[in-house]
Amino acid sequence: MKPEHLLKQRTKTAERLGDVSQILRGTLLERMTRCNKSGCRCMRGEKHGPAYYVTVTYGKGKTRQIYVSKERKGVVEAWIANYYRVWKVLEEISRVNLELLRLGVEAGVKRPSGRKAAKGARGKD
Ligand SMILES: [Zn+2]
Repeated sequence: MKPEHLLKQRTKTAERLGDVSQILRGTLLERMTRCNKSGCRCMRGEKHGPAYYVTVTYGKGKTRQIYVSKERKGVVEAWIANYYRVWKVLEEISRVNLELLRLGVEAGVKRPSGRKAAKGARGKD
C-alpha cells in the first residue's frame, strides 16, 4: 500500500477510537449462589441469583473481582465491549505505523506531544 493511503487509513482508523474513557478490561461472570441458611430454598438446589461479578487479571496470575449490581450490568458490558473495540483500533493503527516504518516514511512519524521539536532539527532523539 502507498504511504499516502496508509496515512489516510491511519487517520480514519484513529477517528474510530471514540470515547476511550468508557472502557474496562475484564470479564463479566454470572454466578448462582447459596446463602447456606438452613431451610432456605438454596439448600434444596434452588440457588440465588444470578449475581454478577467482573474479574480483572493482572500479571503473574493475580486477579481482582468486583461485585456488579444488576443495574450496572449493562454499563459494565458496554465498557468491556468498548475495551475490545478500542484495543482492536489501536492494533490497526499499530500495524499501519509498522508498515510506515518499514517503508521509511518520515511523514508518518510525529514527535510525542508535550515536547517542542526544535524547528529545523534533524536526526533522531
Ligand atoms: Zn439461600
